[in-house]
Amino acid sequence: MFEIGGRRIGGGNFALIAGPCTVESREQLLETARAVKDGGATMLRGGAYKPRTSPYAFQGLGQEGLRLLAEAKAETGMPIVTELMDVRDIEAVAEVADVVQVGARNMQNYTLLSEIGRSGLPVLLKRGLAATLEELLMAAEYVLKEGNEQVILCERGIRTFETAYRFTLDLMAVPTLQRLSHLPVVVDPSHAAGRRDLVGPLSLAAAAVGADGIIVEVHPNPEEAICDGPQQLRLEDFAEYASLVERAAQIAGKAFSNA
Ligand code: PEP
Ligand code: MN
Repeated sequence: MFEIGGRRIGGGNFALIAGPCTVESREQLLETARAVKDGGATMLRGGAYKPRTSPYAFQGLGQEGLRLLAEAKAETGMPIVTELMDVRDIEAVAEVADVVQVGARNMQNYTLLSEIGRSGLPVLLKRGLAATLEELLMAAEYVLKEGNEQVILCERGIRTFETAYRFTLDLMAVPTLQRLSHLPVVVDPSHAAGRRDLVGPLSLAAAAVGADGIIVEVHPNPEEAICDGPQQLRLEDFAEYASLVERAAQIAGKAFSNA
């Protein structure tokens, strides 16, 4: 268990981290931040540096995105979770991030992990698309080894032979990782599913299986989203979604940790 900006995670405390896939504009981010806060989210997510499959796709607003995240934090008081892809951006990201996200594609970027370890910043480490739990835990060790114990593990779906959905959400990873380590384990249903209609049910299952939190994508107008539109929850549906997740978390003995 540890604390991030007054919100606890682990040891019976549940984190609901919500926000857009990527920071697109001031209006989009602030509108989302206010709504997810009112709906019960405990932290705000949003990428300024995006790992995209195609180098020709939008790569994120970068520094401008970080500035907007700082504004959202100042207004709502919510801790910020945002991705760091390149070690050269660590100082800029550290200025606004309360939790640094390491994306699935960078799970085994050992120099990045060691540097984040030395920074002492809390980390949300996503499981690689084809990584075993052992490999995920060893990646976490690169951060822990530097004396940084604030590591959150994240199951976000893995590649299997199934092609009916984007990835296969491995919910068995949750109790298994909790048995193998003392680190909090959160689930990302959005990137596993790739489809909005699966996000609600998968979130309930994740909370019921005992996850320490959920990180979920939400957008005011998913049809216009620059990336991951089909999987982002609609803002107007968020409050009801959050209250259902809260009930499922309660069944597993966990309470939302809001400041
Ligand atoms: C994201 O969180 O927006 C993201 C790109 O996730 P992942 O690294 O799990 O694909
Ligand atoms: Mn995304």
